[in-house]
Amino acid sequence: MKKYDYLIVGAGLFGATFAYEANKKGKRCLVIDKRNHIGGNIYCKKIENINVHQYGAHIFHTNNKKVWDYVNSFAEFNGYINSPIASYKGEIYNLPFNMNTFNKLWGVITPEEAKAKIEEQRKASGIIEPKNLEEQAISLVGTDIYTKLIKGYTEKQWGRSATELPSFIIKRLPVRFTYDNNYFNDRYQGIPEGGYNIIIEKMLEEIDVKLSTDFFENREKLSNLAEKIIFTGMIDEFYNYEFGSLEYRSLKFEHEILECDNYQGVAVINYTERDIPYTRVIEHKHFEYGTQNKTVITKEYPIDWKIGDEPYYPVNDEKNNKLFEKYKELASKEKSVVFGGRLGDYKYYDMHQVIEAALKTVNILLESN
Ligand code: FAD
Ligand code: UDP
Repeated sequence: MKKYDYLIVGAGLFGATFAYEANKKGKRCLVIDKRNHIGGNIYCKKIENINVHQYGAHIFHTNNKKVWDYVNSFAEFNGYINSPIASYKGEIYNLPFNMNTFNKLWGVITPEEAKAKIEEQRKASGIIEPKNLEEQAISLVGTDIYTKLIKGYTEKQWGRSATELPSFIIKRLPVRFTYDNNYFNDRYQGIPEGGYNIIIEKMLEEIDVKLSTDFFENREKLSNLAEKIIFTGMIDEFYNYEFGSLEYRSLKFEHEILECDNYQGVAVINYTERDIPYTRVIEHKHFEYGTQNKTVITKEYPIDWKIGDEPYYPVNDEKNNKLFEKYKELASKEKSVVFGGRLGDYKYYDMHQVIEAALKTVNILLESN
């Protein structure tokens, strides 16, 4: 008999949720991560007594009451509502696209006037059935907003033209004909008081964890420790890129401590023009209504991904989704390896979707045992 039932590769939200649930059901789990900390991309580091989201701003939001109750069983959530603003050539606009944005841009006051303006611009563009992100965006909000708030941001974020990107990416953002700056439509939203680490620490409290351990550096030995592997790293890397590498987008984060108590007056400012190399500036203290004397900001620079870089975003266009299907086919034949999470499933998952997927995987695996 092997020492563990499960070797869980990745101490991110998927791996930690899986480990917590499996342990509760009496399974012996070992979690490994190549990083020197737990939490994956939701990890926070305390700097100047501020919880700094080390890998980009993370706001928890969901419509799923079960998932909301689940995360609330690990941490208290504050009532933070994300209301980022967009900065375009020194002009400031409210996000997501709503009556405040339309009013600032066009001076319109009623929803009817805003809709008429968008319809006029959509008609002039001649788009009937949107086939890509650019066409989808123009159909939803017209050419002015597309030009000022979407095109530049999107093309630097993804490193390709908006005409080569799938429409679903822009549909993540609400378009609203009310004066409401809430970035998400979900019923439940917030930031865990004290940061995200608390959740992962509680999930992994009773679990064996080995950090700074890369699965691929000791593949055979690690695999032999457990009956089954839950793999939350890159699925193409697991198969040694045998059909070629999937594409990802990477990021560079530049953190700075500033000697002022309030730098930008809001947690997130998106810089939507192409010429500014970063997409967002995050001022972390505002996620928790911080009153510290200093502040910490992070500039987020999108960068090309190559093998060895951190794969922050899957690029879910048609070409990559097709390639992923080939890896998925291999995965479906595995008897003792299960893939999950943003990298294992190659899906642009948010946190609530990762939890949902992990709980589903636990149910499937532990019911069939
Ligand atoms: P990860 O957190 O990536 O964890 C995978 C872990 O596996 C990593 O720690 C990695 O080091 C480890 N690993 C990989 N390969 C190996 C290996 N070979 N050996 C050992 N360990 C390995 N979601 C939201 O809901 N709201 C937000 O506001 C939000 N903002 C985001 C902002 C940014 C910039 C990014 C990149 C993501 C954001 N997300 C947000 C998404 C969120 O981060 C993910 O949904 C979630 O963290 C994914 O969890 P995971 O466990 O699948 O993956
Ligand atoms: N987007 C944009 N302008 C903005 C914010 C978002 O054009 O000011 C587009 C961009 O293509 C981005 C997508 O909407 O990749 C999804 O935005 P979201 O904030 O959900 O991105 P994430 O937080 O996942 O990076």
